[in-house]
Amino acid sequence: MKIADRLKNFEGYGCGPREEGIHLDKNETPFGLPNDIKDDIFEELRETQLNRYPPLIPETLEKKIADYVGCSTEKISVGNGSDALLPLLFELFDADQVVLNPTTFSMYSFYAKRKGLEINEIPLDENFVIPSYLDVLEKRSIICICSPNNPTGNRQPRDQIIEALESENIVILDEAYVEFSRESNIDLIEKYDNLIVLRTLSKAFGLAGLRIGYCVGSVEMMEYLNKIRSPFSQDILSIKIAERLFEYTEMIENNVKKIVDERDRIFKRFKDHAYPSQSNFILIDLDAYEYLRDRGIHVRKMGGRLEGMIRVTVGKEEENDELISELERFIEGSKR
Ligand code: PMP
Repeated sequence: MKIADRLKNFEGYGCGPREEGIHLDKNETPFGLPNDIKDDIFEELRETQLNRYPPLIPETLEKKIADYVGCSTEKISVGNGSDALLPLLFELFDADQVVLNPTTFSMYSFYAKRKGLEINEIPLDENFVIPSYLDVLEKRSIICICSPNNPTGNRQPRDQIIEALESENIVILDEAYVEFSRESNIDLIEKYDNLIVLRTLSKAFGLAGLRIGYCVGSVEMMEYLNKIRSPFSQDILSIKIAERLFEYTEMIENNVKKIVDERDRIFKRFKDHAYPSQSNFILIDLDAYEYLRDRGIHVRKMGGRLEGMIRVTVGKEEENDELISELERFIEGSKR
């Protein structure tokens, strides 16, 4: 038997090795944890019994997240990054289709396809705003809305999110970048039991290396989610580090402020080419991916409808200075 004949045909996603240079390609925060905080946390980790399984459900962490979000702990469920919660969420409901708005975060279609769900693509309009869903939803749908949207950076109008919720379909609202936009729609959880808000500690909290995401939704949904998750899926070290990080929300706020100031500085320099952003990245209409890469600056090359553009993560001030100088040289060069 040839194994290749038995393997299902599935188009995965690409992610090359990390090269030397300045990394402005993955929407990470540029700020690592200060050494004194790391030492303090690592000291506590020494006491952790690695021979024991972690708690079945990380309740202490969920309580800290609930306090941060402002809801009850029963409405929170933690996962291995918000990425890993997506396939679980797609398993929760009987649905005929997943509604996506290209161009948006690619993992929605990746997991929907992996689950064999039908995908209905309704593109964002010319201002990257979500469409009206009302006339296209005769099927039982899961609607994925990303706000602020990756890769365009804009927030979606609250009225239209409410319109999607009023259609009585399931709405997954991805707020991975919400801390950089300061306006959330998480309060809608109290009114709509068809809403799930997806969040992560990978962006503003700066814990991309740990893989902690969470979702917020009705108690009923979270109970069901807990029934289908793999046991002990959250490792004990990540849980403990994430728990401790909630002691440093002031530092996180300061880092967010620095990133927002830097984002606005970059935007002002390139406002003829850049799209306004409420995230920690900016979409820029300059075909400068190779140019920057050859100069050691790694940004995200866009494709499809955004072909010829780049998505640039906001870095540290000195990294942004280099980016700005190189992009200015690129623009000068293209005028000649
Ligand atoms: N949602 C959006 C919109 C994202 O851009 C990302 C990561 N790039 C994620 C979710 C996943 O984040 P994580 O798995 O690190 O929590």
